Amino acid sequence: MIGILRPDFQYETLQDITIEILQENGIKGLLLDLDNTVAPWNDNTLSREVIDWFAKIKASGIMACIVSNNSRPERVAAVADVLEILYVYKAAKPTKKAFEKGIKALEMKPEEVAVVGDQIFTDILGGNMMGLKTILVSPIHEREFAGTKILRFMETLTGRKVRFTAQVEKKK
Ligand SMILES: [Mg+2]
Repeated sequence: MIGILRPDFQYETLQDITIEILQENGIKGLLLDLDNTVAPWNDNTLSREVIDWFAKIKASGIMACIVSNNSRPERVAAVADVLEILYVYKAAKPTKKAFEKGIKALEMKPEEVAVVGDQIFTDILGGNMMGLKTILVSPIHEREFAGTKILRFMETLTGRKVRFTAQVEKKK
């Protein structure tokens, strides 16, 4: 049971997945989750690092296809068009059908394809059930939040201190 939830590879970011790792493992195509894997959740902003990583991957001959459960085609297409990659929207991961659509879009054999995503119960479980290689990355939101958490905490403290001072002054 646990084995089906375990990714073959695990990295912090997309950019940590190197062309060498993919080639050594016979991976020629990637089925990528969109929200929190390629772009922040429901946000079309793509980082420079992500854009550059896709350019490198494609230049090496590896094909990419977004497989997203997001039901808005304009949202999924907007990102896929910028990156010039294929896409499947409203995919219904972790169902078999979701990944079959992606594999069909790539025109590859299942053994040549790896699933990349931030969620164990959709991306990793679904990919493993299909016998595909699976790569887990940390969600973009959590990575960003880790960096801003201290700042937000400091902001809260500053706010409290200001209010406290104001109350003390009123009492006088
Ligand atoms: Mg996701």
